Amino acid sequence: MAVPKQRKTKSRRNQRRMHIFIKAPKFLSCPKCGKPMLPHHVCQNCGYYKGKQIVDVFKKLTKKEKKEKEKELKTAQKAPKKELSMEELSRK
Ligand SMILES: [Zn+2]
Repeated sequence: MAVPKQRKTKSRRNQRRMHIFIKAPKFLSCPKCGKPMLPHHVCQNCGYYKGKQIVDVFKKLTKKEKKEKEKELKTAQKAPKKELSMEELSRK
């Protein structure tokens, strides 16, 4: 049986483990609705990916929920959140 030749100190062990931790997911804001979404994924809110509708988000909703969602998406399309560019920031 293979046996370690030398004992690994706590310090060595902890140095090895210092990179082992869960990283927080990085979110992008959806170009269509502005809600946070995971990169390379379909938007959970509006069902769009790369400008195309992939998922029908209204399919599983009730009539009342549908109305609310349509309203929400319309308002998001009309007034998308403007992210300040560096030029605009420097002016302010
Ligand atoms: Zn979206």
